[in-house]
Amino acid sequence: MKNSQDNNQEESLIPPIVPTYARMDAAFESGKGVRLYDDKGNEYLDFGSGIAVNCLGHCHPTLVKTITGQAQKLWHTSNIYTIPGQEKLANRLVNLTFADSMFFTNSGAEAVECAIKMARRYHHETGNPDRYRVITFEGSFHGRTLATIAAGGSEKLTKGFGPKVDGFDVLRFYRDMNKVEEAITSETAAIMIEPVQGEGGIRPVSAENLEILRNIAKKHGILLIYDEIQCGVGRSGKLFAHQISGVTPDIMPIAKGIGGGFPLGACLATEKVARHMTVGTHGSTYGGNPLAMAIGNAVLDVFAAEDILANVVKMSDKLKIELLKLRKKYPELIDMVRGIGLMMGIKLHIDPRDFVVQAFENKLLLVGAGENTVRILPPLNVTSEDIDDAMKLLDKTCQNLLKKI
Ligand SMILES: *Cc1c(COP(=O)(O)O)cnc(C)c1O
Repeated sequence: MKNSQDNNQEESLIPPIVPTYARMDAAFESGKGVRLYDDKGNEYLDFGSGIAVNCLGHCHPTLVKTITGQAQKLWHTSNIYTIPGQEKLANRLVNLTFADSMFFTNSGAEAVECAIKMARRYHHETGNPDRYRVITFEGSFHGRTLATIAAGGSEKLTKGFGPKVDGFDVLRFYRDMNKVEEAITSETAAIMIEPVQGEGGIRPVSAENLEILRNIAKKHGILLIYDEIQCGVGRSGKLFAHQISGVTPDIMPIAKGIGGGFPLGACLATEKVARHMTVGTHGSTYGGNPLAMAIGNAVLDVFAAEDILANVVKMSDKLKIELLKLRKKYPELIDMVRGIGLMMGIKLHIDPRDFVVQAFENKLLLVGAGENTVRILPPLNVTSEDIDDAMKLLDKTCQNLLKKI
């Protein structure tokens, strides 16, 4: 037991939670739809959705009903038994995507790890064991495990964490992706890209560039991986962002939105790739547990029942028009508006952190990103009135900030 002095706030050099986050000063107690309530009774408009996670807002009635109902039945068994909810969710995702098969995880980084393992395993099993390297792009974010920080590659992610996991070649985020071909060697296994960079600052990859990457991959017998952890599950207006272009990958890690706030991810793949993930090659204690599966299935139920994708398209048009008006009104602050669906970014002339903090003071929750960008990621069932409310708060935020510059 520690003596009382060790627990004394003044003596302690470290809080009981490692200080890896610069947290905002609000503790939320409850949420309903697009609104959050803190322990002081303040109401906030949540246009960050827990970083693109709460795709149906907070405490959607169907999700609440599902989680409480399933909690009374069964939470966890193990992947050593059949889990019917997995088969149901997997079949649905197979029917809705390019994929033939998938592995369920608890998080995004685990889904990306699985994608990297699938790519390496595919080449190992098809006579090219030397092909293990993955081409990735500057500004990308693939998670915080040792392999996924190496995939992201930036110093911000990797500094101080020892020798980088080998096998990642981080290229510039080219305007013309034909340049990627020069970086392919006899050791290249795959190209991995976010169809819309999230953390990097809401940078969409054009349909043309996805096509170029697809063709390069085909020509060299390597695999194409789309990290749709942030841009997937309806955020783009299609169920998956790449479906706008119709250019499909071989492997696709997903997470965030698919759990609607419950930890859930998956790594989807074609038959050609997935068939090599045989008994014993991969595993997860919690991945695909009955509770998570019930919620994943319920998220897809709500998408169908409430025509969520149509709402994304409609609300995206409105949000974009309003943001462009805001840019016109505040050119000193806003450089550019970009993004697709309800994954919008405003590129600023000022530090995006200052913008996020000022919006927070005005009770509007947003998320910062790279490239001087602030992310606007409302729930996918956001209404026209919610957007009007957010625009008022954004206008107020711009006015506050103008006075400070
Ligand atoms: C959030 C994110 C991840 C990591 O997901 P975690 O659940 O935090 O591990 C990976 N890739 C992208 C594109 C993300 O946005």
